[in-house]
Amino acid sequence: MSAGELTGLSLQAASARLAAGQVSSRQLTEACLARVAATDGRVGAFLTVTGERALAAADASDARRASGRASGPLDGIPVAVKDLFLTRGVATTAGSRILEGFIPPYDGTAVARLQAAGAVLLGKLNLDEFAMGSSNEHSAYKPCHNPWDLSRTPGGSSGGSAAALAARQCFGTLGTDTGGSIRLPASFCGVVGLKPTYGRVSRYGVIAFASSLDQPGPLGRTTWDVAALLSAIAGPDPHDPTCAARPADDYLSALENGARGLRIGVPREWFGGGLQPEVEARVREALATYQRLGATLVEISLPHSRYGIGAYYLIATAEASANLARYDGVRFGLRAPGVRGLKELYAESREQGFGAEPKRRIMLGTYALSAGYYQADYLRAQQVRTLIRRDFDAAFTRCDVVAGPVAPWPAFKLGEKTGDPLQMYLADIFTITCNLAALPGLSVPCGLAGGLPVGLQLVGRPFDEATLLTAARALERELGPPPAPTALEAKA
Ligand code: GLN
Repeated sequence: MSAGELTGLSLQAASARLAAGQVSSRQLTEACLARVAATDGRVGAFLTVTGERALAAADASDARRASGRASGPLDGIPVAVKDLFLTRGVATTAGSRILEGFIPPYDGTAVARLQAAGAVLLGKLNLDEFAMGSSNEHSAYKPCHNPWDLSRTPGGSSGGSAAALAARQCFGTLGTDTGGSIRLPASFCGVVGLKPTYGRVSRYGVIAFASSLDQPGPLGRTTWDVAALLSAIAGPDPHDPTCAARPADDYLSALENGARGLRIGVPREWFGGGLQPEVEARVREALATYQRLGATLVEISLPHSRYGIGAYYLIATAEASANLARYDGVRFGLRAPGVRGLKELYAESREQGFGAEPKRRIMLGTYALSAGYYQADYLRAQQVRTLIRRDFDAAFTRCDVVAGPVAPWPAFKLGEKTGDPLQMYLADIFTITCNLAALPGLSVPCGLAGGLPVGLQLVGRPFDEATLLTAARALERELGPPPAPTALEAKA
C-alpha cells in the first residue's frame, strides 16, 4: 500500500492491518507525518508536531507486537489531541499566547490512557483560545481551514481535531465539548464526534474552561473508531472527583445491533427558524432511513431549549472568569517584561496574553457573579439548567435517543461571523442543551448540503453512549462514511 492509501484507512482498518502484520506502526506513523508535512500548511490543524517522539513510540509498538505483547486495537495507531490536553514534556498552549512556552509536567488522564493503550501521539491540534469559539478563528496562533473547502471554517472549538481527520493526517483525535465543540466541528468536517456524559471521561489534565460543562471525547472517521477510542479513555479516575465511579461499558460489542425497535425523539424546537432548508432535508432523510430500519419516530418537545444559549453564556462565562484567574504571569507561560510591581505584572501579563474572546468572557462572567447580579443572572441560569434537564428526562420516558441537526448550517466562510459574537454563539443553538443537561451527544455524517458535510445529532440518556454509537452505526452502514474531501488534492 502507498503512503496515501495508508492514511486513507479508517482506524479500524489500520488496526486490522497491524494485527495481520501487513503494516508496521512505523509505516503508518511515517505516512501520517508525511501527510501532515504535505497538507498542514494549507489546513493548519496542528500547533505542534512531535515527529521524533512519535517515531520512537511507533518503534516501541512494533517491538511489543513482534514479541506478542501488543495491547489492543489502538496499539501502534497514530493519533493527535486538542492542544487543551496537558502532555508531559510537550508544549501545551490552549490556543492562547498566555500559555506560550508552557511545558506541562504531566499527562492528562485521557492522553495517558491513549498512550497506555499503545497509541502514537503525533502532536497537538489547533483550537479556539481556551476552547471559546465555534470556528477556530479565535486561535491566537493561526486559523484552521476546512479540508472540504479551504475558505471555510472547520468549526470550533476543536477545529483541528476534526480537520486533521478529514485531511487524513491521523486516525483518531481527542477534543473537548463545553457547548458543542466536538459535535460542531465533526459535523462541519464530515467525521464522527462524541461528547460523552459529563463525568464519563476524566477532566484531569484538561485545561479548564467551564468546569461544570467541559467534557473530553473522541473524534474519528467512523463510529467504530470513535467507540474504540472511547473504550480506551472512559472510566473512573481518582484524580478527578467529578469523574463517575461507574466503569466504562464495552462500546464495540453492541455496535452492529442496528436500529430496529429504537424510539427516536424528534424535538419540535430543533426544527425552527434559522435551520437551513438543505440541512433540514438531510436530517429528515436520516430520520426516514431510521424508520426504514425499524425505528419509530416520536414527536417530543423540549420547551426550555430556547433559554439554552442565554443560560449557557452566563454559566460558561462565570466559570471561565474563575478558571482563568490563575493565569497571573507568575506560574505559567507568558510574563510581561519591564513591569513595576505585582499588580502591574498581573494586569500587563493578562492584557498581553489573552485575546479578545477570553477577555470578553472574563468581563461577562465577572459581572454575572458580582454582588447583586449573582441572584438575577448566575442563579437564574442554574435554575434554567434544571428545567432543561427535566425536559430531557420527560422526553426519555417516551424515546431512547433524541435526534436533530447539529448546527443550523454547514461550514461557513472564514471571517463571516467574526465581527458579530452573537452570530457566532448561534452556531451552538442545538448543541448547548446537551451540555447543560450533562447528557451524551454525538454527531454522525448524514450527507452533504451544497457539497459540504452535514451532521445528525443524537443525544442519549446519561451514560448511554453505547446506544448512541449503535444508532449512529446503523445510519453509517446505510450511508457509508462520506467520501474523502478533494480540496487538498485539487491544487497541491
Ligand atoms: N462555541 C461555544 C463557546 O464558544 C462552545 C465551546 C466549547 O464547546 N468549548 O463557548
